[in-house]
Amino acid sequence: MEKLPRTAESLAKQSKNVDVNKIVAIKINGVVKDLDAPISDENEVEYIMEGDKAALEILRRSAAHLMAHAIKRLYKNAKLAIGPAIEKGFYYDIDLDTQLSDGDLLVIEKEMKRISSNNFKIIRKEMQKDEAIRLFEELNESYKIEILNEIRENTVSLYEQGDFVDLCTGPHLPSTGRIRYFKLLSLAGAYWRGDSKNKMLQRIYGTAFFSKEELEDYLKRMEEAKKRDHRRLGRQLEIFIINDEIGAGLPLYLPKGGILRSILEDFERKEHLKRGYSIVYGPTILKKDLWGKSGHLENYKENMYFTDIDGVEYGIKPMNCINHIVVYKTEIRSYRDLPIRYFELGNVHRHEKSGVLHGLLRVRAFTQDDAHIFCTIEQLVNEIHNILDFVKNVMDIFGFEFNLSLSTRPEKYIGTIEIWDMATHALTEALNLKGLDYEINEGDGAFYGPKIDISLTDALDRQWQCATIQCDFNLPERFDLTYVGEDGLFHRPVMLHRVILGSIDRFIGILLEHFAGALPFWLAPVQVVVATIADRHDIYAKEIGEKLRQFDIRCELDMRNEKIGYKIRHAASMKIPHCLIIGDNEVDSKTLSVRFYNGQQRNNITIDEYIKQIENLNENKVIDYWR
Ligand code: ZN
Repeated sequence: MEKLPRTAESLAKQSKNVDVNKIVAIKINGVVKDLDAPISDENEVEYIMEGDKAALEILRRSAAHLMAHAIKRLYKNAKLAIGPAIEKGFYYDIDLDTQLSDGDLLVIEKEMKRISSNNFKIIRKEMQKDEAIRLFEELNESYKIEILNEIRENTVSLYEQGDFVDLCTGPHLPSTGRIRYFKLLSLAGAYWRGDSKNKMLQRIYGTAFFSKEELEDYLKRMEEAKKRDHRRLGRQLEIFIINDEIGAGLPLYLPKGGILRSILEDFERKEHLKRGYSIVYGPTILKKDLWGKSGHLENYKENMYFTDIDGVEYGIKPMNCINHIVVYKTEIRSYRDLPIRYFELGNVHRHEKSGVLHGLLRVRAFTQDDAHIFCTIEQLVNEIHNILDFVKNVMDIFGFEFNLSLSTRPEKYIGTIEIWDMATHALTEALNLKGLDYEINEGDGAFYGPKIDISLTDALDRQWQCATIQCDFNLPERFDLTYVGEDGLFHRPVMLHRVILGSIDRFIGILLEHFAGALPFWLAPVQVVVATIADRHDIYAKEIGEKLRQFDIRCELDMRNEKIGYKIRHAASMKIPHCLIIGDNEVDSKTLSVRFYNGQQRNNITIDEYIKQIENLNENKVIDYWR
């Protein structure tokens, strides 16, 4: 009899169905382990193959070691801090006397390729903590010793490849030869342990994939994302500015951005009124006591700003909930009044750390399309259902695909476990009713309740979380909200917090990147430019401009003493959907020539025909306006 296989690797080698060269790691009874981990007959073994979701993280962890290995070969004095896999790749924080440059990254990359082609076996070693400390003392790796001293367990794991060893829980790929498609991307400074009192280390970012195509595709998309950066487009298209003069994270809208915002806000108001919401407005600052009552002082204080007026303390609202609760409480409510839906384009301020601020995507002041729904427990599932429909309708208009996730109770929470379970159950039921797929994010809920998060996917396949639906049994309790039931007794309503676009500001940032600045016709701050070829065409151009304005078309006249080619290029650089070219032919025949943003042109259109077309673009919110 042949001896039973001792590792998953030998098992896989005997199997015709599994390509051992594509196995990344294994799962033994649900726990991810290295491919050469010992197994026994009772173990249930699952292979993690290249292309599986869990595989990429393992590859990138190994790529971080590969990079550290290369750095240790090139810079003998380099000290390694930490080097994890992250969402889009990996990084390593390194303590080094010389300042690295982009050119150095190429040298490190070359050395990584060499180590990859050496195809060293990657070996897991478990040892006593003391032994590991002695080893890293010999290697002069003081950061590793600091980490080791904080580990509670007595046994730790190290990974070795050739002459390189690193402290790591793993798992890793079986050999360095499996890490082939990687790229070092950028350099940044990072304080040891993120604390500015500590030494500033050099962080090297990189990414890795299992195939050349995936890597190239990713790099291409990164390049495209750079071109579409909304901070650059925002300035170029005169939408907004953010600068130190005003204060970090505080966007200021320029006239074109002002128009864009009001179009979005008008759209929002209309859609909400259509769905039975009432519009309310509340103040930006509220007495501090209210924030104590709501639980914000306990759970959200570090994100809030405070001020005082005549010796009374006030909190600047980070959320709009309290205002809407106060509106609810202005009357005795009956079951016949419910559900009550309050909508507000609510401006909020939150203290975000300066390091995370990013254009309109992460700011300290923004406006939410916020609503709070007060309803009975029986109405809850239906209300959530309606919000999901609302989200779908709106995402369709902008042409976004989206996906959903359910976030459950976090570590910091208010209310009882029973109440949390009830709320989570209602959200789950509404999702199931709609037959929607969703992910579960354990522990990611807000402190006052579980939530559904909805993320849209943009043109570069990036995910942006926008809409959320949060179920809240706690604030109604804290503020003693009631309604009179059919039985004549007081009952507690349930509260839903929800946004559709989320932050209007952030959504504008996303739109700019998604459309690369060329917004759909109905959103474009300037929709049409009327450009003349010569002075003698001015009168007809003005006539057309006048007519378009009568139909609420946002148009500008370009009657400058410039060549028509220059005017067309200018309109294109401002991403204006239509440029009307007015010359002798147009004046004589009383027609128009339309140059679309994409470069196509149509001639000899009558003005009435043209207006009919653009009214259709506006009303139906057509995205591809040149078709
Ligand atoms: Zn709220």
